[in-house]
Amino acid sequence: MAESRETLKAFQAEVAAWMKENAPADPGFLLPLSFLEVGTEQQLDFLRAWQHKVWEAGFLGMHWPTEYGGQGADPAYQDVVDRELARCNAPIMFNTIGLGWTGPLLLEMGTDAEKAKYLKHILSGDEIWCQGFSEPDHGSDLGAVQTKAVRDGDEYVINGSKIWTTLGNYADHMILLARTDPTAQRKYDGLSFFLSPMKVPGVDAVPIRKVTGEYGFNQVFFTDTRIPADTLMVGEGKGWGVAMKTLEYERGVSAGQATGHWMVAIEIDDLINDLRGFERDGAPVFEDPAVRDEAVGLIMEAKALSLSARRMGVPALTSDFPMGLPLSSKYRGTEWARRMKLFGAAMQGAQGALYVDDPDAHRGGFWQRAYFSNFGATIGGGTSQVQANIIAEHVLGLPK
Ligand SMILES: Cc1cc2nc3c(=O)[nH]c(=O)nc-3n(C[C@H](O)[C@H](O)[C@H](O)COP(=O)(O)OP(=O)(O)OC[C@H]3O[C@@H](n4cnc5c(N)ncnc54)[C@H](O)[C@@H]3O)c2cc1C
Repeated sequence: MAESRETLKAFQAEVAAWMKENAPADPGFLLPLSFLEVGTEQQLDFLRAWQHKVWEAGFLGMHWPTEYGGQGADPAYQDVVDRELARCNAPIMFNTIGLGWTGPLLLEMGTDAEKAKYLKHILSGDEIWCQGFSEPDHGSDLGAVQTKAVRDGDEYVINGSKIWTTLGNYADHMILLARTDPTAQRKYDGLSFFLSPMKVPGVDAVPIRKVTGEYGFNQVFFTDTRIPADTLMVGEGKGWGVAMKTLEYERGVSAGQATGHWMVAIEIDDLINDLRGFERDGAPVFEDPAVRDEAVGLIMEAKALSLSARRMGVPALTSDFPMGLPLSSKYRGTEWARRMKLFGAAMQGAQGALYVDDPDAHRGGFWQRAYFSNFGATIGGGTSQVQANIIAEHVLGLPK
């Protein structure tokens, strides 16, 4: 039975009170804007301790079963927590690939042994997960991945390279898509999915610097890396189906995530309030009709996105194209956010060209950094162009 409004309101007050007592003080160093940019041990330690604390309070994995470290509660409770954490500008949950897609995947397709082995450590933050899908020559065309996994007794031997691997240099485990049968007639049938250990000989993660100047993702090299055969998930040659399910979680098409608080929430109101102090041609920026026009456009899109999110929760309102809204919300939401943050940088005039480490940069270069950082969201988990293709073909039924 759905939770009553009063019960959830009382719970929200409980979370707010907890946050008042427990919200961490400013650590005095730059925190990442999202889980994609955890680039230093200092950030990692801070975020790991914070995730652990939130989990210990019972506010993480609220609808995951209690036997695996969750609370066995209605998903509405997690929504309340996520909203409250965002409202209080709490630091993000960093172990997103575990909390957001590996965890729900294991709950849906994993064995009891796999659930018992991994889930609780995902929630507590003790074990970090990364995702080994993309390769230097195979990103959007994921079905063509070439990293090889060859069975040798009780082990598989892995050779190849993955790239753009978020958290790869810190991770304990990787969800790994690798080719076990290069001769399969359909390329998809030659793929298998592993819950692969990372802290074993033959794995090298090399951090890659981003356009923001930060780190967060890596190129990972596997050289005769031996992993236990029982890390194979579902079965040999069945990896494509598992990978597609994973992408449903990553793209927000399937629910089950332990938390939604993965990135610093930056709303249109933040932007409008922040820009009030800026001038253009000697007058406040918002006196310029062209600026007002653009701002109102962004506000209207923000409203449409938020109403669409609410509509997604009412199946009767999405019966014509049930997958349409979840699929399009990643595309539209990330593209909108990119434009909104660019607007924040552009409205500063010449000051908008100053970056994070410049003492004269407005708010420490906040909008500039947020803008560059946002490109990751429009690319990771499927680029905007690929998302548009999927919507065109699978939702609107247009020809390829
Ligand atoms: C911040 C960040 C974090 C990431 N983290 C991870 C991670 O943890 N693990 C992981 O496995 N991957 C990760 N990725 C990789 C990401 O999934 C890929 O970058 C993405 O799938 C695109 O692949 P690609 O980079 O090879 O680009 P390509 O596939 O080479 O695409 C290049 C360009 O061509 C366009 N294009 C390609 N195919 C089509 C088509 N059919 N129709 C129209 N246009 C097309 C694309 O839109 C893009 O503009 C991350 C990426 C980023 C930016």
